[in-house]
Amino acid sequence: MKSAMQAVNQKQEHTNSYYAATANEATDYPPLAGAEEADVCVVGAGFTGIATALTLAERGYSVAVVEANRVGWGASGRNGGQLINGMNGLNAIRKKYGEGVADLIWDMKWRGHEIIHERVEKYAIACELKNGYVETAVKPRQLADIEETAAEMQRRQFPYEYEVWDRDKTRAMLGTDAYVGGLVCFRDGHLHPLNLCIGEARAAQAQGVRIFEQSPVTGIEHGARPKVKTATGGVQADAVVLAGNAYHRLEAKHLNGLVFPAGSYIIGTEPLAEELVNEINPLDVAVCDLNEVVDYYRLSADKRLLFGGTCKYSGRDPVDIKKYILPKMLKIYPQLQGVRIDYEWGGKYGVVLNRIPALGRINNNVYYCQGYSGHGVNATHVMGEVLADAIAGALEKFDLFANVRHLRIPGSQWLNGQIVALGVLYHRLKDLL
Ligand SMILES: Cc1cc2nc3c(=O)[nH]c(=O)nc-3n(C[C@H](O)[C@H](O)[C@H](O)COP(=O)(O)OP(=O)(O)OC[C@H]3O[C@@H](n4cnc5c(N)ncnc54)[C@H](O)[C@@H]3O)c2cc1C
Repeated sequence: MKSAMQAVNQKQEHTNSYYAATANEATDYPPLAGAEEADVCVVGAGFTGIATALTLAERGYSVAVVEANRVGWGASGRNGGQLINGMNGLNAIRKKYGEGVADLIWDMKWRGHEIIHERVEKYAIACELKNGYVETAVKPRQLADIEETAAEMQRRQFPYEYEVWDRDKTRAMLGTDAYVGGLVCFRDGHLHPLNLCIGEARAAQAQGVRIFEQSPVTGIEHGARPKVKTATGGVQADAVVLAGNAYHRLEAKHLNGLVFPAGSYIIGTEPLAEELVNEINPLDVAVCDLNEVVDYYRLSADKRLLFGGTCKYSGRDPVDIKKYILPKMLKIYPQLQGVRIDYEWGGKYGVVLNRIPALGRINNNVYYCQGYSGHGVNATHVMGEVLADAIAGALEKFDLFANVRHLRIPGSQWLNGQIVALGVLYHRLKDLL
């Protein structure tokens, strides 16, 4: 098993995913060579890094992005593509600060969607963005969560279409008996995440952002103007944003033990026959259950079922991803028995023990945001804006997160993995109850 740090230092190409096979472009930005200057240097070209860079560039900042591998190489280019409102930890933030922040939190829940929709339109990004997502209840007790969410949507006069489905409607719409109900929301949806990331990177470049690929950052020299260093160059900037999430080990003194890498895995079937598609997902919505350890799936543009299952916290990938995920898929859809599996891949995302994204800064000018706990397409875009606001001195939203105390478990990667594996075992047991 390779450690995340080894993986980063090897300067890898994209994993063997459906997304890499259908990417609009094989990006080939130059490696960093020599000395560069910028207002802001971003480390990592996933959604956190690229969304922050694009927001800053739109506001007139000069920005350099330094990526160890390729744009979207990490979780951002490998994920389930589910555009789901909210982010893990928002309810905890609301509890911590009280009802006074309820409206702010509600707006933040949906802000990432707004940013993504605006950018897809403004920069003509072809990423198969579609509306429609169902949160499904596997257990009767989960129906209360659905009712609570729907009640808040009603109270707030949510302007987009949504509906609570009972067992029969869920069965009719999803072609499976696996669920006792669901909540469909047509503001949520799904997309091709790698193409979104690549498209946003191109938009950023068009706004003047300099992007460097195949350039692992080896360290940061702190000071009034910190310097981001690679083996072949450096970027000196007024501010640095660390956006390496589960794949980086920079600033270990400050960040060690804050975020744990968890693995999630996806298989992609062959394109399904029209009758099957109409049976299992006639509305073409994304689906994710309400378990702690989730199954999630959606149809690709060419009607493959992309089915994902979380998660491995042990730091070890399954030897055979198909063998690990296929039974989960067939449990929901026995009618897919015998369908060919064309793709299998996995990725790592950052998990925080209390589920609140770890946002903060070191020495006032090195910012970081990581650990969306598996729920990051929307959240990364919200946080890109929060980081850009903070760099401009507007700290209201930044402080909501930065003032949260996180439990750390310092120690080796292996030790962290074992401890978090116990955590997931606990959540699995909760799912079974
Ligand atoms: C299989 C899977 C399925 C998922 N499904 C969903 C989903 O359906 N919906 C959802 O909302 N979320 C989902 N997630 C979570 C979501 O993908 C992540 O929360 C999000 O993409 C995190 O983005 P990021 O930019 O912070 O990190 P990443 O996308 O991981 O990007 C980090 C980048 O930093 C780079 N980097 C690391 N170290 C260095 C260094 N030293 N120097 C330079 N660069 C460095 C890496 O190469 C990488 O490109 C899923 C995650 C996985 C793995």
